[in-house]
Amino acid sequence: MFDYLIVGAGFAGSVLAERLANGSNKRVLICDKRSHIGGNAYDEYNEHGILIHRYGPHIFHTNSRDVFEYLSRFTDWRSYEHRVQASVDGQLVPMPINLDTINQLYGLKLTSFELEQFFANVAEPVEKLRTSEDVVVSKIGRELYEKFFRNYTRKQWDLDPSELDASVTSRVPTRTNRDNRYFTDSYQAMPLHGFTRMFERLLDHPNISVMLNTDYRDIEAVIPYKQMIYTGPVDSYFDYRYGKLPYRSLEFKHETHNVEVYQPAPVVNFPNEHLYTRITEFKYLTGQEHAKTSIVYEYPRAEGDPYYPIPRPENAEVYKKYKALADATQDVQFVGRLATYRYYNMDQVVAQALTTYAKIIGTKRQEATAAIAASATKMPTIVTKTYSLPSPMTISTNGAATAAARAKGASSEAA
Ligand SMILES: Cc1cc2nc3c(=O)[nH]c(=O)nc-3n(C[C@H](O)[C@H](O)[C@H](O)COP(=O)(O)OP(=O)(O)OC[C@H]3O[C@@H](n4cnc5c(N)ncnc54)[C@H](O)[C@@H]3O)c2cc1C
Repeated sequence: MFDYLIVGAGFAGSVLAERLANGSNKRVLICDKRSHIGGNAYDEYNEHGILIHRYGPHIFHTNSRDVFEYLSRFTDWRSYEHRVQASVDGQLVPMPINLDTINQLYGLKLTSFELEQFFANVAEPVEKLRTSEDVVVSKIGRELYEKFFRNYTRKQWDLDPSELDASVTSRVPTRTNRDNRYFTDSYQAMPLHGFTRMFERLLDHPNISVMLNTDYRDIEAVIPYKQMIYTGPVDSYFDYRYGKLPYRSLEFKHETHNVEVYQPAPVVNFPNEHLYTRITEFKYLTGQEHAKTSIVYEYPRAEGDPYYPIPRPENAEVYKKYKALADATQDVQFVGRLATYRYYNMDQVVAQALTTYAKIIGTKRQEATAAIAASATKMPTIVTKTYSLPSPMTISTNGAATAAARAKGASSEAA
């Protein structure tokens, strides 16, 4: 008998599996319908031996010290500050918009003070910031909105920014200094040997069994367990009783090129041209040295894996109904991005999982994480130089061929 069946081996499921096994000595079965652990943060070596992120670039950044310290028990880090350029009017300019962006774009030599004046002159007064368009035009005016935001947002969401919640473009700051980092969080680093290796360590515990290629619906009736933690889509759990919650999806086109460097920045955004939104070159993110380089194009799609909850008031209303059902469902905890229908970054999902664990054991998150910190054997290690990765690692998951899987007459797929 398992104490917990955890559905989904992404950040939400894996952190909870680790905590329940390590912190509370519970027996945990974690299943995922995909063929790997790590959820959308999964990375792998491609056929050229280059570490890539299968589901698009994942960059770790957080202001939460306890989240960073918690994950540091399972990985060392490579210091990495993310940078993005945007292709606008035939030039590549820094994104988020900063002093260099404007000077380069218009051939000016403004100072920070003058740029503030510039923005103040072009900004459009908006009484109440409701939509993504309002947020941008009220800060930097219509022309820059058209150049950098309007078409990008339309491509990404298939909606005009005027139809989207303010939260989408509020995430992208505008700066009057020359700071060209994409994020400004206190902790910005990538797992030294990749996300998947970190997930392997999270799940490496004798009390944790992993079943891959397994939809929980195929096993929930045959494998005995006491409680469930569900990190899949909340509407699917309730058989779409109130209809499907809308998601935006992406198609990823991966390529490897016979050159050491493909583009001048880790990510290049294409707000106005092409059907794809951006190109990412992975070696910048991972620090890997290799004679070739791998990139990925992102094509926004209406259908496909659920990636981005679409932030519109009517969708929030539908989610509210599912949340009421979820709250009333005993012995099941709904955790993570899909189960709470919210665009969370990885660190926010880790924080949510740690808070859920604290609730399960009847304490506060601060106390629960203080206990983890006290038992930690090492402090975070952050490596600043680039390094050569070993040639392709074999990524294996532990404990997969569980007795439970065998009891089900288990598939050779459950690896
Ligand atoms: C393109 C893209 C880029 C991103 N970039 C960043 C970034 O740079 N930085 C950042 O912090 N965050 C980023 N994110 C967000 C990040 O991916 C999420 O915060 C994180 O992966 C959420 O973890 P999770 O465990 O909630 O969900 P997921 O990683 O989606 O895991 C849920 C798992 O549940 C499984 N599952 C679903 N239904 C079932 C079922 N019926 N049975 C069994 N298993 C099931 C799924 O297969 C999946 O593996 C990005 C997301 C996307 C889509």
